[in-house]
Amino acid sequence: MRSMYATVVVSSRQSGIGNGLTYRVGLGQGLGLGQLVKVPLRKRLVEGIVVDVSEEKPEGDYDLREIAEVLGDSPLLSEAQIKVARFIAEYYVCSLRQALSPFLPGMLWGKLLPEKECFVTLASLAPPASALGALAGKQHDTQKKFGKKQQELLDFLQGKEWVKWNNVQRETGVGKAILKKLVEKGVVEIEERASAPAFAVGAIRGSTQLTTGSPPLLPSDVTLTPRQIAAYKAIKADPRPTLLFGITGSGKTEIYAALIRDAISEGKSAILLLPEILLTENFIERFQKLVSSDAIAIVHSRLTPAKRRNEWRRIRAGEIRLVIGSRSALFSPLQNLGLIIVDEEHEWTYKNEQSPRYHATKVAEQLCQAEERRRSPFETALAEPVLSHIEGLRPPQGDTAERLEASPKLVLGSATPSLESWNAAKTGKYQLTELPERFGGAALPTVRIIDLGEVQFGKAYPLSPALLDAVKLRLDRHEQSVLFLNRRGFATNLLCMECRYRFEEPQTKLPYTIHRRGMRPYLLSHHTGEELPLPENCPKCGSKNLRELGAGTQRIELLLQEIFPEARILRADSDTLRSPEEMRSLLQKMKEGKADILLGTQSVVKGLDLPQVTLAAVLLADVGLSLPHFRAGERVFQLLTQLTGRSGRSQPGEVIIQTFRPQTMEITLAASHDVRTYMDRELLERTKAQYPPDTDLIRFVFSGSDAAAKSKAFMNIWEQETRNQKLETWRASRAPSLFGGGKIWHVFLRGKGVREALKRLPEVEATIDVDPVECL
Ligand code: ADP
Ligand code: ZN
Repeated sequence: MRSMYATVVVSSRQSGIGNGLTYRVGLGQGLGLGQLVKVPLRKRLVEGIVVDVSEEKPEGDYDLREIAEVLGDSPLLSEAQIKVARFIAEYYVCSLRQALSPFLPGMLWGKLLPEKECFVTLASLAPPASALGALAGKQHDTQKKFGKKQQELLDFLQGKEWVKWNNVQRETGVGKAILKKLVEKGVVEIEERASAPAFAVGAIRGSTQLTTGSPPLLPSDVTLTPRQIAAYKAIKADPRPTLLFGITGSGKTEIYAALIRDAISEGKSAILLLPEILLTENFIERFQKLVSSDAIAIVHSRLTPAKRRNEWRRIRAGEIRLVIGSRSALFSPLQNLGLIIVDEEHEWTYKNEQSPRYHATKVAEQLCQAEERRRSPFETALAEPVLSHIEGLRPPQGDTAERLEASPKLVLGSATPSLESWNAAKTGKYQLTELPERFGGAALPTVRIIDLGEVQFGKAYPLSPALLDAVKLRLDRHEQSVLFLNRRGFATNLLCMECRYRFEEPQTKLPYTIHRRGMRPYLLSHHTGEELPLPENCPKCGSKNLRELGAGTQRIELLLQEIFPEARILRADSDTLRSPEEMRSLLQKMKEGKADILLGTQSVVKGLDLPQVTLAAVLLADVGLSLPHFRAGERVFQLLTQLTGRSGRSQPGEVIIQTFRPQTMEITLAASHDVRTYMDRELLERTKAQYPPDTDLIRFVFSGSDAAAKSKAFMNIWEQETRNQKLETWRASRAPSLFGGGKIWHVFLRGKGVREALKRLPEVEATIDVDPVECL
């Protein structure tokens, strides 16, 4: 017998062991990848996950300790999940333990093991001789021998195999005392079992017995329009990830429904990711009409740890066929995954801003690839004892070819795709499928651009007379308005009111922001850290008419209330909305017509479906555009396009965009609903300026009072390193973070394949963010 060695990642957060430790596998310790074990660590026993099993002893002749105990009958994680965790650790530069953490919610992994459940069956299926004898001997008074309740239970079990006691109890109403009597008499057998079957093999086919209850699909059906059918068929025919580019209201949800229905009816399971699960209840209702609610799990970060674990176990046990959730739902331990849908794939919430700093789309791609190869014979052999332990779960018959199923399908849906996905579609990495029309031929709202530079404001700034007229019109007609202000209204910059020149950093073309030291304002570049005194004159036309842009929701609410004293105004921003319940009640008020104007920040735009809204307005489109961020334009364009999708959902609507720079392409192209042209041009701009998606970008975040010094030292090392290697196409820049108060500094590394450089740099005391989304 050869010795076996296992690499185990322990759950405790000690430094230096995040990538696992090697242990000897004891004789007779049946062990598979992903299995939970107890291992000795210093003087304690700790929980860990097996991430590798090998026959080769690792290098070095130190004494290896032995795995103390194997916990649970079957692995907590699948081979595919471990593979993806390895990818995350490598790509996003973190330890394997960090990469595994989203797969295993909570620190106490043991709590994820299946809870033992009680199963019962009639002993006559395999009657022990003694029981048979006893039965035969008393054949004549069988009727008398069993009480009424006992007989009911026996009748219920007649002709069935092992049944979950919980279900028996629910259906017959018979109590545990009755069961105990029958067990004592030897006519009923009872067994405690963990209900989680092994991964991937026939789990769904066999699961009906373990999870009695309604079938997962409800009898409702999906009816698609001819256009939708064409898109649906195209998606089904292509194994690549699909970018479903469908304008707002085109019925992407219906296509998701059709795809989910198909996956489930083929015995597979699906994940549906949403950017902000708590704002999308209506949306979720759609899927609750399709899939039985016992087969849906809703997973998001605000679940309590206990609830989270409970959902995890239900998913792992094969009870769940559809997981709907925010980005972390991607890590659900689903059996037989067939489909991943990422709705509103452009949303920034798909990037995790804590370690591991993954992007959900990237991880979803990896998950689909890793699931492609199902099970090696080795794994199947390992899993067998577990399988035969649970009735109805048998390894698939037939040859290996049958086990190699198609990889899960990935579908990314958006009306305004991210530049990353757009680029992938252009290069053929993704399939592109379009839905260019709204359902039922509904018209897109008309968009009016108001040039704020032309408006004579009194104290009503930034509410233009035209906007106020439009709001008044809605008030008179008892219709509703949504007024939208960019959240970061406090990032201000400087604009010439004569020629509309925006003060920007010449090299990066990103705007300077205005900061104050005491009362004295100055301009700061957030990409080079350069500071300039506030100029008196415009460098282009010489005008002295320079203006600082910016405004807050609170001031505007007061202003609106003064102008329209009768109007019922709701304000929705991070100050007024602290919980999802508050958001829900606010939306309820709008739906019930108990408010006239909703004034809010960007959260208002997301997923809003308010039928009585006929006016949607952006108060200062430039505020977003003035952020010193290469994604600022894309962001604004997405918001404007989403906003145009929010108005006039059931009646003709109007959109007003107020701006100081009406000629910027984000504004003109959003106004003409020309998403394609915008994305093509923006992609070109990005490529020219060497920004993602054409170029790789890595952010290093230095924090603390010595952040400036640390980042500077890092820059020096970088410069030396690249000079030695003559890698001029890689660039680095350093600047204070916009909101860090001088205690957070960023270094950005930019260039094709710049990730390679990470391997050559010494360890640095900074947070590393690969493919950053947040850069301010
Ligand atoms: P999107 O997600 O693309 O913005 P939705 O899926 O929300 O669009 O669809 C917009 C509206 O059109 C919804 O009210 C939806 O119920 C309706 N709709 C879309 N497709 C169909 C269809 N095939 N049958 C019935 N209603 C549909
Ligand atoms: Zn000027």
